[in-house]
Amino acid sequence: MNMIKPLKNVVSFIGLVIFSISFSIQAEEYPTKPVTLVVPFAAGGPTDAVARLLSVPMTKFLGQTVIVENTVGAGGTIAANRVAKSPKDGHLVLLHHIGISTAPALYSKLPYDTLNDFEYIGQVVNAPMTLIGRKNLPATNYKELLAYIQKNRDKVTLANAGPGAVSQLCGMLFTSQLGIPLTQIPYKGTGPAITDILGGQVDLLCDQTTNTLSHIKADKVNLYGTTTLKRLSSLPNVPTLNEQGLKGFEVVAWHGMYTSKGTPTAVNEKLNAALKFALADTDVKARLAELNVEIAPPDDVTPLGLKRKVESEIKKWAPIIKASGSYID
Ligand code: ASP
Repeated sequence: MNMIKPLKNVVSFIGLVIFSISFSIQAEEYPTKPVTLVVPFAAGGPTDAVARLLSVPMTKFLGQTVIVENTVGAGGTIAANRVAKSPKDGHLVLLHHIGISTAPALYSKLPYDTLNDFEYIGQVVNAPMTLIGRKNLPATNYKELLAYIQKNRDKVTLANAGPGAVSQLCGMLFTSQLGIPLTQIPYKGTGPAITDILGGQVDLLCDQTTNTLSHIKADKVNLYGTTTLKRLSSLPNVPTLNEQGLKGFEVVAWHGMYTSKGTPTAVNEKLNAALKFALADTDVKARLAELNVEIAPPDDVTPLGLKRKVESEIKKWAPIIKASGSYID
């Protein structure tokens, strides 16, 4: 009788048991050190703001400090790649926005596979956007802006957070619907971009209310419209771009949380529980409401909900991006 085969089976069974035990111990003890929440854009911007808000209650829940780290560049793909290639232990977590779904159509050589290189923790928020301009731009409403752009098409500048950023996506839709290409000025995030809007160095920016609302309310910028199909509760008198002639114009910057593929399920579940705990925190809820940023519906703050969102957004944006001719080689 061949004894080698049963022996081999016993050895692989023992191996499997040891592997499973070490996985569950790892998950039970997780986190064993500070957790880094990777933000793909510069400090002071909207993604950074959401990460910093979440980091406080998440630290409380996890019993280890959650440190926010900004890994900027290439429209968020450098940060996404960093997390995709990180050890599968849940200590490096990505907080990305809609850009994770637009990058596959925008970049010909993505260094990671969006649908297969991540564990999906859950969707976080939905953030509406606004089209704003520097205060001293001689156009105080959308109609005046159109006239100004038509007369000054060669000199109007539009800030964004790089190719793949939602500000770039919004700007691309705006200019392609107008049929007037504008000079794009890329920044490492819309935190620094809004500093230049306030300083008058750049003309226009499309950005989340997370970043723009306080400046709109303080009358430090011109506001030309919102990017939602319905008016915002925080700006009920401000017409949407859709209402003002840009038919169907809608860009909502949703955020999601990810770990690298192969991170143990129990670790991901603990992170999901930490995320839910953070979204239920009174201070977080109040601050997000103030910024007109909506917490994702409970069904979407789940791995399945986020995966569904990423997949449907990839499908939605790919033809739009293709038609716009934006492509990064
Ligand atoms: N709002 C930025 C964007 O345009 C990103 C950021 O700075 O959070 O994608």
